[in-house]
Amino acid sequence: MTSPDINGPLTDGFHLVVEALKLNDVATIYGVVGIPITDLARLAQASGIRYIGFRHESDAGHAAAAAGFLTGKPGVCLTVSGPGFLNGMVALANATVNCFPMVHIAGSSTRAIVDLQRGDYEELDQMAIAKPLAKASFRVDRVEDIGRGIARAFRTAVSGRPGGVYLDIPAEVLAQTMDASAGAASLWKVTDPAPSQSPSHHSVLRALELLAGAQRPLIVLGKGAAYARADKQIRAFVETTGIPFLPMSMAKGLIPDDHQLSAAAARSLAMAKADVVLLAGARLNWLLQHGEAPHWAADAKFIQIDIDPTEFDSNQPTTIPLAGDIKSVVTALNAGLPRHPVLCPHRWQAELTERREHNAAGMAHRLAEDPRPMRFYNALRPIRDFVRDHPQVYLVNEGANTLDMTRNIVDMRVPRHRLDCGTWGIMGIGMGYAVAAAVETGQPVIAVEGDSAFGFSGMEIETICRYGLPVTVVVLNNGGIYRGDGVDPYGTDPEPTVLAPRAHHERLIEAFGGTGYHVDTPDALSSALADAVASGRPALIDCELDPSAGTESGHLTNLNPRSALQPNQA
Ligand code: ADP
Ligand code: MG
Repeated sequence: MTSPDINGPLTDGFHLVVEALKLNDVATIYGVVGIPITDLARLAQASGIRYIGFRHESDAGHAAAAAGFLTGKPGVCLTVSGPGFLNGMVALANATVNCFPMVHIAGSSTRAIVDLQRGDYEELDQMAIAKPLAKASFRVDRVEDIGRGIARAFRTAVSGRPGGVYLDIPAEVLAQTMDASAGAASLWKVTDPAPSQSPSHHSVLRALELLAGAQRPLIVLGKGAAYARADKQIRAFVETTGIPFLPMSMAKGLIPDDHQLSAAAARSLAMAKADVVLLAGARLNWLLQHGEAPHWAADAKFIQIDIDPTEFDSNQPTTIPLAGDIKSVVTALNAGLPRHPVLCPHRWQAELTERREHNAAGMAHRLAEDPRPMRFYNALRPIRDFVRDHPQVYLVNEGANTLDMTRNIVDMRVPRHRLDCGTWGIMGIGMGYAVAAAVETGQPVIAVEGDSAFGFSGMEIETICRYGLPVTVVVLNNGGIYRGDGVDPYGTDPEPTVLAPRAHHERLIEAFGGTGYHVDTPDALSSALADAVASGRPALIDCELDPSAGTESGHLTNLNPRSALQPNQA
């Protein structure tokens, strides 16, 4: 079948990949070109697919993952073989852990040589390496299977629990030719890529009964709920039942953070006292203290909505598993309410409101402080105000203290407008996520970055400038990992957490034609931010913080084991 058909026009693997992607509505590819996929990117671009070229494959992969979360369709990442492929693996694994749909396509070296380890250019068994890191890993070994391979990759990435899929396409398959009409006939468009999955009637009734009898019910909204695009249904369920909700960081804005039923500012109390907890697209993992006492009540009952039934009982007994997609499940819950009403006791709402108001007053007090040099709180105040006044702005956020404090201080009002370190607490997603948010939505993006976090993907500001994207990077610069005032009492090299003091990151963006700002007061930050976002152009604001601002490991101090011995005693 792969031998040239002398009777008719031919096509080849390159063209078939592009046509299969177009057929499956791929609008954008994020990648880094080189052997053997450079022509693939050119052909994609010529076909009308937008190609966004990065400086490092990890960033391209993170962009594809974020595109998957933002659009509900698999984002596509394209890389070269060997090291370029490997550079993409952190992003593919991170997408899988976060349940974001993406497809990483890489070219690879000659199979016959790779498989006997004869030493090919960029020799690597890529399919095998991707397998444990991704939801699935496939290879196309024949040109006539390209359409099938792409359909399979897309279906797998986006159906059920979404995740990252690797698709290996050897260079020789890209170059193979076949009859053009047979080639066209070998492609197909995936029908209903993420079919809805309804829960059992019985489980819905049991969930409503348990909630109806609860004294202190709580709904935890996770990024799976944001991803599910069931915004209206979820809000209706919350408002009809009056059950307080706790948004996980990327579910912020699914219901506005300033909603009266938000328990975000009373998080510890809500968790510790809830007797019936409805988890909606949130796993009971480390981010929720595994559902354990004393963070949660020892006898708390968990109802869990998840599309992946293997998630149930992963940490605590799941009293009522609601297996299905969130939109279908919450629709069924809402439909059951008239006959099986649920009303949250007023006492519990009032208890949470009181705590929330108390904590909000404490927060207002801290935000009102105005120390010089600036610290996190007074830097985040103008950012909070700006996002409040411009709710359509996308917020990308990474760092340690920068993540913790931005999450707590900057309220979101619109669903799926916050992208952050996610389930792993990964560093390096910043610029990739920012590019994807700008490309996919056309809206302004503010990336609030710790200076250390920014360093992992900082070179992509060239990408942001090259495409003229409306991204404003704010570097909360305390000159270090966690903080910049570490001192090594035993030597002369910088202490491990220390980065260049008083670095002017704004000069980096100036090198590529963007606008740089350097600020050291909240007022200056406020006006730089307004100016930068209004310009619709790439900008970077280096925000000079006190090097002593910040806590080691941020809010995760408890996860950081400490040596019992000092370095000179070990
Ligand atoms: P968070 O970190 O915000 O708590 P997680 O990533 O831990 O959220 O949890 C997301 C959960 O949502 C995963 O268990 C995933 O299987 C689930 N999920 C993703 N999409 C859907 C959907 N459409 N319907 C139901 N569950 C979903
Ligand atoms: Mg720092």
